[in-house]
Amino acid sequence: MFADHCTELLLKEELDASTASMSKYWISDLQCKIIDECLQLHGGFGYMDEYPIAQMYADARVQRIYGGANEVMKMLIARTL
Ligand SMILES: Cc1cc2nc3c(=O)[nH]c(=O)nc-3n(C[C@H](O)[C@H](O)[C@H](O)COP(=O)(O)OP(=O)(O)OC[C@H]3O[C@@H](n4cnc5c(N)ncnc54)[C@H](O)[C@@H]3O)c2cc1C
Repeated sequence: MFADHCTELLLKEELDASTASMSKYWISDLQCKIIDECLQLHGGFGYMDEYPIAQMYADARVQRIYGGANEVMKMLIARTL
């Protein structure tokens, strides 16, 4: 719902920087938690490059780094509180 709300704001050109930072931080963190659970479900095979879940795990991990690291997002949010 939060992602949908942010998309709606973006389309209306009303998405402010701190809400965008909240979205980037929270959704990419959540993505990593979910993919981690999925990999765990696959057991050892989930870690092997041959399985798509391993690629998803690697792809998810970088989301917390690029586009501004999540720790930096926290700093940007904190400045507006
Ligand atoms: C695949 C990929 C594609 C990219 N594409 C682009 C692109 O197209 N255009 C572009 O401009 N850049 C791009 N980047 C760069 C990306 O934006 C940076 O990697 C990102 O901003 C993090 O900077 P850094 O790698 O220098 O890490 P650093 O800033 O050195 O961060 C290292 C660690 O320190 C933490 N940290 C940093 N500052 C603070 C702080 N103040 N408080 C607490 N912790 C902190 C970070 O959270 C992180 O955990 C890309 C990176 C990757 C990996």
